[in-house]
Amino acid sequence: MTDRASFDSVAKRVMVTGGAGFLGSHLCDRLVEAGNEVLCVDNYFTGRRGNVAHLLDHGRFELMRHDVTFPLYVEVDEIYNLACPASPIHYQHDPVQTTKTSVHGAINMLGLAKRVNAKIFQASTSEVYGDPSVHPQTETYWGNVNPIGIRSCYDEGKRCAETLFFDYRRQHDLRIKVGRIFNTYGPRMHPDDGRVVSNFIVQALRGDPITIFGNGEQTRSFCYVDDLIDVIMALMATGDDVTGPVNMGNPGEFSMLELAETIVELTGSSSSLVFQPLPDDDPRQRCPDIGQAEKLLGWRPKVPLREGLEHTIAYFDALLSAPGR
Ligand code: NAD
Ligand code: UDP
Repeated sequence: MTDRASFDSVAKRVMVTGGAGFLGSHLCDRLVEAGNEVLCVDNYFTGRRGNVAHLLDHGRFELMRHDVTFPLYVEVDEIYNLACPASPIHYQHDPVQTTKTSVHGAINMLGLAKRVNAKIFQASTSEVYGDPSVHPQTETYWGNVNPIGIRSCYDEGKRCAETLFFDYRRQHDLRIKVGRIFNTYGPRMHPDDGRVVSNFIVQALRGDPITIFGNGEQTRSFCYVDDLIDVIMALMATGDDVTGPVNMGNPGEFSMLELAETIVELTGSSSSLVFQPLPDDDPRQRCPDIGQAEKLLGWRPKVPLREGLEHTIAYFDALLSAPGR
């Protein structure tokens, strides 16, 4: 039999936008491992070919340079839309392009999903809650977002993308899945990514001062990448009635001071802590209520912070001591 239905049962054609980035490359690995044909699409703004270099010779993997703010015509069964810079320093570098990536990117990927009747996942974010006044954050909380600040290009872009996803659902009955991802870390973060976990680890390994923004009492909840990929794939595998939004994160909550102290201890570093000004609109606290993910997907994160940090430190240690660095 060569009909599409029998082929589908063997391999789905899955596209990952932002597939050469930190999360996208881990997702590509897992999708290839699961027997899918994977099309990785990226414009390499913050991602790298090196993150997927080990997949380039795989018969079911294909890499395409493309910017999602332009339309794309490919035949696929599922789309994971991850394309968007995620670190504040990178998304604030060209804020207009950041909003375009979220909004035009969503319109282009939703249009494609509609045309080929694909199921589509959106990598949304805890940033839709802004500086939250509800703690921990549930999916029913509408958020507290500054619409005109330096984080707004990302936060409002992602909020608008969610709106587009739910309007495509209501208007065109599209099969959508929206995950609100909380701070996730792990191997393949870029050493110059700028987010807190990679910054602190690289600074600790180099013996440089650890840069604490503000007084370090602000909190975040950190999820290890393997747990995050599990929950993204679990959401995609649900029936058409499950749309999300679903919070995806580890509810363990830590202050930036606690994170810095843990990283100094685990690396055995002699780095000191230095305090720098808190960037505008930096959320004071963040912690996911993961009741929905537990109920709908039977998912809970498995990797505690110290264990995830150990894996991540080992990755950066090898990277920074590689010849040529
Ligand atoms: P990342 O910066 O490593 O990956 C983003 C990828 O998107 C990169 O490979 C980049 O080159 C690509 N990209 C950016 N603009 C593009 C465009 N216009 N066209 C095509 N590709 C483009 O960041 P990440 O942590 O892997 O984040 C992946 C997704 O998950 C993002 O959408 C981000 O908003 C979301 N997210 C991540 C976290 C986290 O903690 N890691 C938290 C919340 C949401
Ligand atoms: N942060 C810090 N030092 C750094 C980088 C970040 O203290 O070198 C703080 C930042 O101000 C924020 C928290 O760490 O309060 C998380 O920052 P990140 O950029 O990782 O993610 P986000 O703010 O988007 O959650």
